[in-house]
Amino acid sequence: MNTSRKSFIKTLGTFGLLPWAITQSAAAQQLTTPSRLNGSNPKTLAVGSRNALRGVELAVSMMADGQDPLDAAVEGVKIQELDPDDMSVGYGGLPNEHGVVQLDASCMHGPTKRAGAVGCLEGIKTPSEVAKAVLELTDHIMLVGDDAKTFALQLGFQEENLLTERAREAWLRWKRNLNPSDNWLNEDGSNPTSTGTVHISALTQQGDVGSITTTSGLSYKIPGRVGDSPIIGAGQYCDQRVGSAGSTGRGEANIMACGSFYVVERMRSGESPEQACLSALQRVVEMTESRLLDDDGRPRFNLNYYALNVNGEFGGATMRKPSQRSLDNGGGTFAVAEPGNARLEPMAWLFD
Ligand code: ASP
Repeated sequence: MNTSRKSFIKTLGTFGLLPWAITQSAAAQQLTTPSRLNGSNPKTLAVGSRNALRGVELAVSMMADGQDPLDAAVEGVKIQELDPDDMSVGYGGLPNEHGVVQLDASCMHGPTKRAGAVGCLEGIKTPSEVAKAVLELTDHIMLVGDDAKTFALQLGFQEENLLTERAREAWLRWKRNLNPSDNWLNEDGSNPTSTGTVHISALTQQGDVGSITTTSGLSYKIPGRVGDSPIIGAGQYCDQRVGSAGSTGRGEANIMACGSFYVVERMRSGESPEQACLSALQRVVEMTESRLLDDDGRPRFNLNYYALNVNGEFGGATMRKPSQRSLDNGGGTFAVAEPGNARLEPMAWLFD
């Protein structure tokens, strides 16, 4: 207790208010979180969304070489950000309604208790690195839009056209098919929509955690829309004493539930990572407006959580049991890596 608080309590005592102060102090003590999850026995581990398989493998090999968990996680997600074939993130991501790629990312670093984020960033292939620069170089947590781009350019990032030919053609197809009575002639053919984002949570042998989530957001979104990925506590969250979590799927639903924060808090109160992910999905259901629920009260959208704790346990969960076809093609899985062993593991689901 610092000196000024001591003298404050002394003053309260003078006015006969000390019992209140003691009660408050006892309540505050109850709210104090444990210094470390019980039985903490960390190991080098990374978990993430399914598209992070190469990323978690890289992240654990970097951490096994002694590198920082956030540095490792960022290098991991950059593989997808720079991959033109991943249409859910970074370069090659599907654009907004106007055909412009707008990217969101956020990250946290357990040891230093710092966070960084960017929203609606245009023209920079790796928003994960810009979010980390916000974390490392500024006293702020989130920069958005043109000013986030200016910040990145000042740091030496290159401005580039992020709209690949494939993504532009997909957008044009979407636009032509949007409205049967406008002046665009409709075109047949399937159209990719973005259900993706890449998340990595990382843990070192020393028990340090880091987390990052990066995305091009929902495809064909209204310009300026910011999803959950850059929101601390929604798209990702980590706490050095407990563990780390992240999310992909319908961002609006995840924001309402403060999902990644909630997963970490459930782990803090003793739930396994998998159970904590299921608890967060349950909270999402409770926070969902009726227009988005089917007749059985189940969400019409999908959402996934991924988590690890500082004991080296991990889990993932998704809203609905994937179809058999999807399961046969590796759906319903998330990426896990320990040194020398990167793999996809099955996720739990809330609804059959
Ligand atoms: N969560 C992302 C967003 O809402 C999209 C996704 O993961 O599919 O921006």
